[in-house]
Amino acid sequence: MAKLYFKYGTMDASKSADLLMTVHKYEQQGKNVLCMRPNIDTRTKEGFIESRALDYKHSCYCFNDDEDLYDIVYKEQKEVKLDCLLIDEAQFMTKAQVENLVLVVDTLKIPVICYGLKNSYIKGELFEGTKALLYFADSIQEVKSVCHFCNKKATMNLLIQNDKPVRESKTGNAVVIGDTKQSSSYYISTCREHYFNTPDLI
Ligand SMILES: [Zn+2]
Repeated sequence: MAKLYFKYGTMDASKSADLLMTVHKYEQQGKNVLCMRPNIDTRTKEGFIESRALDYKHSCYCFNDDEDLYDIVYKEQKEVKLDCLLIDEAQFMTKAQVENLVLVVDTLKIPVICYGLKNSYIKGELFEGTKALLYFADSIQEVKSVCHFCNKKATMNLLIQNDKPVRESKTGNAVVIGDTKQSSSYYISTCREHYFNTPDLI
């Protein structure tokens, strides 16, 4: 029976590596997968899912927030039998798009595995896509990682800008693209205690 899966974790929990391993397992068996992700950083439709942890990448379809994911998958599976649909950065989907995926699972009987963040950096609030996935997913699993400052489990994404923690947004926009420690703006994964009481970084 097809199910809607949600695998969530913090920024550096190797979620994309987990996704790519899953793709690899399907493809090794000669099965077909479709990878998709919300288009947040480019305007192109063709993109890649890559992982810092693995030397492997896979092409993906990048969708905008006004696109109907059911329509896209419906057309695709008319051309080729789809064994699994995988979504990266699932937190950036709209609620309507999560509902599209429910339809993919329930009517097209294609399993859908979504990978994403649970909390945004803004006071730890839930993303729209995450909220909808928590409502509707058949299976919810945590991809675990460890706090930057201690050995407790990391559950929060803390934005660092110019060496200072940022927990509020002037624009209310949770999409701030940051890489891990390669620019003046990046994220670290922390436990709840160190999210609110962050030790000095330098
Ligand atoms: Zn900690």
